[in-house]
Amino acid sequence: MFSGPKLLLLFAVLWLVWLVFRLIDRRNWTLNAGQEKTTEKKADSFVELTECEGCGAYVTAAGCDNSDCPVNS
Ligand SMILES: [Zn+2]
Repeated sequence: MFSGPKLLLLFAVLWLVWLVFRLIDRRNWTLNAGQEKTTEKKADSFVELTECEGCGAYVTAAGCDNSDCPVNS
């Protein structure tokens, strides 16, 4: 059915196809990982929100920027 060289060529073609599919798969995986990282970052900044002692507003860890807040006056 297949002679030696032809069989080797067939394997080479199959290997190349597998390689291309793996590359595409890896690229998709990297894109997904990037999206997950962005979501994680958003979640982190949400957790960092704390209630201001002066005005009760939810502010970031950087501090309250409310001009009506007693902390800023
Ligand atoms: Zn405040």
